[in-house]
Amino acid sequence: MPPHRDEMAARPPAPQYDPDAPVSAAHRDHTAREPMVPRGGEAVPTASRAVRTGEPRRRVPRTDALLADPAVAARVAELGRDLVKATVTRVQQRCRDGALAPESVPAAVLAALPPRAATGRPVVNATGVLLHTNLGRAPLSAAARAAVAASCGTTDLELDLDTGRRGVRGAGTLAALRAAVPAAEAALVVNNNAAAVVLAATALAAGREIVLSRGELVQIGDGFRLPDLIASTGARLREVGTTNCTTAADYRAAVGADTGLIVKLHRSNFTITGFTAEAGIDELTGLGVPVLADLGSGLLAPQPLLPDEPDAATALRDGADLVCFSADKLLGGPQAGVLLGRAATLESLRRHPLYRALRADKLTLAALEATLRGPTPPIAVALAAAPDERLRRAERLAELLRANGIDATAEPSDGVVGGGSAPGVRLASATVRLPTRYAEPLRAGDPAVLGRIADDGCLLDVLAVDPADDRFVADAVLAVARCR
Ligand SMILES: *Cc1c(COP(=O)(O)O)cnc(C)c1O
Repeated sequence: MPPHRDEMAARPPAPQYDPDAPVSAAHRDHTAREPMVPRGGEAVPTASRAVRTGEPRRRVPRTDALLADPAVAARVAELGRDLVKATVTRVQQRCRDGALAPESVPAAVLAALPPRAATGRPVVNATGVLLHTNLGRAPLSAAARAAVAASCGTTDLELDLDTGRRGVRGAGTLAALRAAVPAAEAALVVNNNAAAVVLAATALAAGREIVLSRGELVQIGDGFRLPDLIASTGARLREVGTTNCTTAADYRAAVGADTGLIVKLHRSNFTITGFTAEAGIDELTGLGVPVLADLGSGLLAPQPLLPDEPDAATALRDGADLVCFSADKLLGGPQAGVLLGRAATLESLRRHPLYRALRADKLTLAALEATLRGPTPPIAVALAAAPDERLRRAERLAELLRANGIDATAEPSDGVVGGGSAPGVRLASATVRLPTRYAEPLRAGDPAVLGRIADDGCLLDVLAVDPADDRFVADAVLAVARCR
């Protein structure tokens, strides 16, 4: 018996999706790691049986039935009902015009919808660079991700719930920072470390001089130069010393009535070796001018694996009035600039109008607090992992792939910290070597797997790959092999 016309309408009502809900279950499903299928090899999503039963031919599936189809409903949650409904109407019209068979309508609707948002596509970082600025630097810990999700709605961001009065913005985050670095009297969080430098330079030295060593005129990524950034605030740069040698006497000679700030900048992406001299922070205090140490990479305390990397606790103990660093480098948190140091100095920064334009948002503050208070973040876990373990992981992966007929071998490799941290440091790591032709389809997969092409091979380095993701790497390679 042919199905009655109203059978589809008699289905249980479709779940109510709020198109504006920021984190719905359906949306999360999209970022969940499913086995990877390279682009081009994607199967057209199948519509549910109920929608496909639109017999006889030329019967156009009804709008409510199409919108209730689980695959379509998932896109409603992501894209909003209006856009999906407009697409449904367009495809129904093609069907009415005879250009499309009724049973093809659900798949045609799905195919006509825009692809998943292109910004923030997940990428497995198999480059061997622990902190890759192009890949969004540090991955957040599970605790930080949960904190972001929990603070997406309205929160107590600037409200003291005990008194009902206005409170300090991100008070919990600032307390976590002070607890993590007891040498700091106070803390402030801005959009990124560049913003921290700009805020300090503007508030303390606009229209005056900032003394900086010629050995610390650093260019960071994408052509940005920190001296230009500092000069953009209206402060005048007073360069001292030479490229290789700057002494405390050089600073002393330059400091005068017009000096607003001394900046010590970490050479975070290069080293100077040979005949060199550098003044320590402890030699720059007592000149009557505040000292800002831009540490770059965000270690809070000394890290024995990276002995040449500066840290906040040591710089403050040495007498820096302020330190600043990125939260998404070695700290392993969200993009943010952290300023720590003297309470009075930080209060003058917080009261400066520019702070209003640079302050961090509630999601960042939540993620940063959870990073500081929660379990060791992924970057620190990866840094501390034993080199032997990395080699074992690469060997296990290569073995699994070989068992599936893929030409894969495990080899030791040199990883780097990257992202403006620990220049010159080599981290003993391991890679899986595949034929070069794997690189492109792996990069096009979802999630993308990004290795590096070197020595006539596609190298997948396990350094920055979460061990829990090893099986996704294997799945991705197997999927590429299957499609060949
Ligand atoms: C990375 C870095 C910066 C820039 O930090 P962002 O958080 O990317 O703005 C500034 N100074 C130093 C020394 C750095 O290493």
